[in-house]
Amino acid sequence: MKVYISFDMEGISGIVDWDQCTGSGPAVAMGQELTLAEINAAIDGALKAGATEFVVNDAHYRMQNLDPRLLHGDATYISGAHKPGYMMEGLTSDFDVIFFIGYHGSISGVPSVMSHSYSPSVFTELRVNDIEVGESGVNALVALGQRVPIGLISGDRATALQAEPLMKQAIMVQVKDSITRYAASNLHPHIAHKRLSEAGERAVEAAKSIELPAIELPATITMSFQTSDQAELASWITGVERADLRSCTITGSDPLALYRSFVGACYLTRQAQGR
Ligand SMILES: [Zn+2]
Repeated sequence: MKVYISFDMEGISGIVDWDQCTGSGPAVAMGQELTLAEINAAIDGALKAGATEFVVNDAHYRMQNLDPRLLHGDATYISGAHKPGYMMEGLTSDFDVIFFIGYHGSISGVPSVMSHSYSPSVFTELRVNDIEVGESGVNALVALGQRVPIGLISGDRATALQAEPLMKQAIMVQVKDSITRYAASNLHPHIAHKRLSEAGERAVEAAKSIELPAIELPATITMSFQTSDQAELASWITGVERADLRSCTITGSDPLALYRSFVGACYLTRQAQGR
């Protein structure tokens, strides 16, 4: 039983500002400890249910946030920022279930701590088949392409709301309730860990019966950008169509190819800078 974990930091209980999860200031160390503890709690639950292998993909900022010696479950740690598979690097079809830990709300949605969609200086909204999605919805394309179900998603309330349409059967663990984009009511870590552990256990037990993400193929990703320059740059990628002044679409039947083009657009459009 193999478990794939993609983690972010904005959706971890206790983290509410960039200084807790970017740069190298004193607040980051605590943010990283809180993150590690949530991941380990989910792994502990999965171990109880018989999971035997873990791959943990660091999907936040420079993507080297954890001390690999401290990961439970003898997990393999995928780290480093230059990854073609980005937030889903390393997911292959031989995994049994996926956990998204520390996820957050989209830039265009209800208030959610440090909300963004991949790149805050680039995207103003992302849609999959015309459903507004957070990062979980885009990443679900890779889950679908590799035919691995998403069993657990943790973050704030907005994270759960946005994941629900495409991942109805995933267990949502709400570890905080965002008040604004820089404030939240956070569960005590003990409570958050208990819930994550229980959810990890249940998700592994249920893995075989969880349906794949509900994304009809061929699918379309619609990317809305901050500036027309960014839309122009994205349209240079084969398969990316300009929809209007500040948006582009990618359509196709292969969800992995769609995600690859999306990642290409992410990397490229940053060059045009934000507003
Ligand atoms: Zn992040």
